[in-house]
Amino acid sequence: MTQSVTVLGLGSMGSALAGALLDRGHAVTVWNRTAEKAAPLVERGARLAATPAEAIAASPLVVACVLDYAVLRAVIGSVPLSGKDFVNLTSGSPEQAEEAAGWFGARGAGYLDGAIMTTPDGVGSAEVMFLYSGPRPVFDAHEPVLAALGDPVYLGADPGRASLYDAALLGLMWSAMAGWLHGTALVGAEKTTAAEFTPVAIRWLGTVNRFLTRYASQVDEGRYPGDDSTVDVQVAAIGHLIHAAGARGVDNALPELLKSMMERASEAGHGADSFASLVELFAGRVAAR
Ligand code: NDP
Repeated sequence: MTQSVTVLGLGSMGSALAGALLDRGHAVTVWNRTAEKAAPLVERGARLAATPAEAIAASPLVVACVLDYAVLRAVIGSVPLSGKDFVNLTSGSPEQAEEAAGWFGARGAGYLDGAIMTTPDGVGSAEVMFLYSGPRPVFDAHEPVLAALGDPVYLGADPGRASLYDAALLGLMWSAMAGWLHGTALVGAEKTTAAEFTPVAIRWLGTVNRFLTRYASQVDEGRYPGDDSTVDVQVAAIGHLIHAAGARGVDNALPELLKSMMERASEAGHGADSFASLVELFAGRVAAR
């Protein structure tokens, strides 16, 4: 079923969101500080509102995606919000999401906080996740429309949860991409291209997926039996990586950091435990050196 949706903010991401809603046949009203950015969407059938107030009045559901939360509040100002539902896809912290939930709630609006787990080119694909947190009835009411943007993943009533997961998932992404780039530089020193290395690396990530699944229960139980591979064995193994990379002029700051964390875990008594025991360091339960 198609419905009226307003999109506030037409930067790279907001434009992609509005475009995906138009693709599914929704009646889209848009507003952006720089009105010219609406032109390609208006050509495709969107209606351009002259003010945020006009845009918000146009639809029961308002999707917002601007630079940050302060900008969103400045844009909305004192516009009446009673009876509207807001889905805020602007990036921020869990604390900002909590505060925003209070601010919108006090003004009679429903509020879902969200996080977009893609760049704009991925918007509209069912393969990408959009994370949401806030009142379940608000999510349920709008899930069919939100599915136009990507796969809607509901994380619970706590409004900060989507931002919390977003931060955790970006951390995972940076670590994984940095490991891949380090490996790419290492094999590149022996004239292997990134295109040759990457399919093998991606296959390896499939195995790493299985490690994560196995270690999740160890982390939850706080017990890390090293019956597959121990921290001490991996301290030795990362030494080989550091040697091979150093000998080829590859920067070793990343594996050196990991090695020092493994050594700290070992010194704290986890040498015979699995790699999952490093969570004790990340959780702040092992004193820094
Ligand atoms: P852009 O810089 O392309 O767009 C920023 C938007 O914020 C524009 O609509 C801009 O309006 C508006 N804006 C900025 N300052 C003000 C202001 N003072 N008053 C009114 N409007 C203002 O950024 P993106 O679209 O890439 O990002 C938007 C949000 O989406 C961010 O929170 C970002 O973290 C998040 N996001 C982006 C991703 C991406 O890959 N791009 C991925 C996941 C999340 P104007 O056009 O007039 O400048």
